[in-house]
Amino acid sequence: MSKSELQCSFCGKKKAETELLIAGIDAHICDQCIEQANGIVIQEAKSDLNNPEDSQSKLLKPQEIKNFLDEYVIGQDFTKKILSVSVYNHYKRLNQQVDDDVEIQKSNIIMVGQTGTGKTLIAKSIAKMLDVPLAIVDATVLTEAGYVGEDVESILTRLLQAADYNLEKAERGIVFIDEIDKIARKSDNPSITRDVSGEGVQQALLKLLEGTIVNVPPKGGRKHPDQKFIEVNTENILFIAGGAFSGIERFISKRLNMAAIGYKSSKEEVILKENLLQYINPKDLKDFGLIPEIIGRLPVVTYMNPLDKNALRAILTTPKNAIIKQFVKLFEMDDIDLQFREPALDYIVEKAIDYNLGARGLRSLCEEILNDAMFSMPGGASKKLVVTKSYAEKQLSRISLKKLKAAS
Ligand code: ADP
Repeated sequence: MSKSELQCSFCGKKKAETELLIAGIDAHICDQCIEQANGIVIQEAKSDLNNPEDSQSKLLKPQEIKNFLDEYVIGQDFTKKILSVSVYNHYKRLNQQVDDDVEIQKSNIIMVGQTGTGKTLIAKSIAKMLDVPLAIVDATVLTEAGYVGEDVESILTRLLQAADYNLEKAERGIVFIDEIDKIARKSDNPSITRDVSGEGVQQALLKLLEGTIVNVPPKGGRKHPDQKFIEVNTENILFIAGGAFSGIERFISKRLNMAAIGYKSSKEEVILKENLLQYINPKDLKDFGLIPEIIGRLPVVTYMNPLDKNALRAILTTPKNAIIKQFVKLFEMDDIDLQFREPALDYIVEKAIDYNLGARGLRSLCEEILNDAMFSMPGGASKKLVVTKSYAEKQLSRISLKKLKAAS
């Protein structure tokens, strides 16, 4: 057959009539047939996903959800429990028969707590457990439509991307909005009507949280007339918001009618914060600058505890994908037996606390300690590395810990 006679074996189009004709062993396929076939594959996948019996049988009970979270997240028992219940209720709601007269409302969640205490980790673990797409977005980049920054719709673009553009999957996904506290109203005075970074964004977010159909530009970016939109229904998307809400303690203490807090020493401050956040309620969020409508749409309020020495030590080795386990695995791939002595682990925790690096710093510390070995050992003769305290000290003495602080 001459080149000009080649044709698609599926639709019969001549090569000249196609954009692209791909050759197989004894057949050819054109670009349009590929697209159509892809559509069929997606459709098939969707019908599997939407089989309610499947999702019903997979729905874990709250205690099982909590057990799963325990494998990944150290401490934070209160939040894990609250989240297990709301996630369970949320997905139970999705399985609810539509013709019921009692409509169960969505229970979006807000987590308040210092950065690096596991908020994102919890959201990630839940998405992993449920095998639903997760979009993590930073509220600080969001702006009202018309301003420089990202429209709130971009959140759904991310979710679509996380779902490989499978709309049905995206519509049952989870959105984690980090740093929600950064879009708080800057002043308590509600008469400030134009607050680009704050209230306007909250208003825009409100629609998404409420459950509505949003026109989403599939590739992100600003809306422009020629771009095709995908209609995303946010009704069944679970929104989890997180933020440090630094300074919110003063509203809590005021509400609780506690004596003014004198921040005398940093140690005392930590204790006070720990004690106060557990009393957080929606009014405090309002006083901080979230608008009441947003708070109303985030009915589940929970808090994170600061991580103490024991928690940090556990984070190093206990979770299923604990940092140390990950490094051991990496070394194992080069047939190297990596071991950490107990005092070395304590030393890492100590440094993380001394330099206020938090849980994120644990990884950077381990990286610094192991960098030389990760560079020189693969392919070398030595097949064992035992990290002792003095080895860790020696490795860390070469770098400035201040550098780590800046990076974490
Ligand atoms: P946040 O969202 O609160 O700022 P992250 O969840 O991003 O904090 O935590 C940063 C990293 O620190 C995580 O990837 C994880 O390795 C570790 N980490 C933080 N808190 C915990 C925790 N409670 N249990 C296990 N690991 C944690």
